[in-house]
Amino acid sequence: MPAKPTLLLDVTRGPLFEQRNVNAPAGLKTPGVYNLALFWESGKSRRGVLTVDIAPRFSFFRSRKPYGSLLEWAGDQPDLFMKSFSRTIESWWSQAHPILPSRRNSWFDEINVVFAVVPWTTTPLVTETRWSVTVTKVDPVDYTKGFEGKVSKVSIDRAGADLEVTLYSRDLDPIVRDRIVRGVSTKFEQRPVLHEFGHIIGLRDEYPGGRARNPNWPEDLESVMFSGEKIRERHYAPFAHWLTRQFASLSLSGIGDGSVVWKVRGRTDLNNALL
Ligand SMILES: [Zn+2]
Repeated sequence: MPAKPTLLLDVTRGPLFEQRNVNAPAGLKTPGVYNLALFWESGKSRRGVLTVDIAPRFSFFRSRKPYGSLLEWAGDQPDLFMKSFSRTIESWWSQAHPILPSRRNSWFDEINVVFAVVPWTTTPLVTETRWSVTVTKVDPVDYTKGFEGKVSKVSIDRAGADLEVTLYSRDLDPIVRDRIVRGVSTKFEQRPVLHEFGHIIGLRDEYPGGRARNPNWPEDLESVMFSGEKIRERHYAPFAHWLTRQFASLSLSGIGDGSVVWKVRGRTDLNNALL
């Protein structure tokens, strides 16, 4: 996959809209999950960049191998894991689809989505987002053989406590699964962190049998919420929804030239995303 161009923000103009602790509106309806801000792209007067910020707090745990020896996190490994976690999610989840307006308007012809994941391990002065990520060290070989019960997951406590993400040290490496597609055994690869990030932003599992499952996409095995890594238009629909609401509030205040509906690639929003 070719590298995506880096989109620079025009910070001199500041964000047109900004909201902290936005609730994911669809699927899992995660409370206060991310911060959103819409900027102009540097040097492109008609292009916007929507930034999706998340600042998860990481804790690292050692574990015991099945035959008793301890698996420890050595030296800089936690730091490398966090850096790789951010890089993997930011590069894969960003700029998958442009969000386009329903009509020519005073502001933008196109808005691209960029994720910023900023992990931390110590208590900051201000706690902005409530994600708490634990990563347990596992032996990649044991794990591949079927480390029973060691399933990465995202738990959402609606009572308002921290949102918990349970990961294992091998979750940056792809899991290969065999699935039968039209009678043919087909291999699908997926890096678990990419899938779990989908839950973090409020998406449900699309494969059969998940606890909080989206039943609408039973054939889409390549989807990142199924067995693959494809980011679908529907996965961006919550962001298009947020943009439509922000522009509607501008329009209500008499700023600009009326309301604009934003859709992913001009076709997908929460009305047809089936999240
Ligand atoms: Zn899942």
